[in-house]
Amino acid sequence: MSDTIFARIINKEIPADIIYEDEQCVAFRDVNPQAPVHFLVVPRQPIARLQNLAAGDEGLIGHIHGVITRLTEQEGIAEGYRVVANSGSSAGQSVFHLHFHVLGGRPMRWPPG
Ligand code: 5GP
Repeated sequence: MSDTIFARIINKEIPADIIYEDEQCVAFRDVNPQAPVHFLVVPRQPIARLQNLAAGDEGLIGHIHGVITRLTEQEGIAEGYRVVANSGSSAGQSVFHLHFHVLGGRPMRWPPG
């Protein structure tokens, strides 16, 4: 897989507002926020999308969701927030490096568009 923009952010080749990182994942603010708080949590491993998860990735995904829980507290949105993973172009995915959007700080409508 060729480097996506997120791989370049992870490798610190281009700047981003990184709010958390560890050995498995990196979290940074979305450059085009759709809510007062909008950040992305991405694995360091270049998995293209949810469909490409393999046996053995369960621990990684569980870890990422633990990180998301802690970051919602850090960002002051723990009372209510939305986690979104667009998987595939028709679902709105534009960067093919797995990422979880975390949005909060405003009421969320349902269904999403
Ligand atoms: P997707 O459409 O793939 O679900 O989400 C990709 C997200 O990445 C979009 O919300 C977009 O604003 C964000 N994004 C794209 N390029 C950059 C970038 O260079 N820096 C940051 N911080 N976010 C980006």
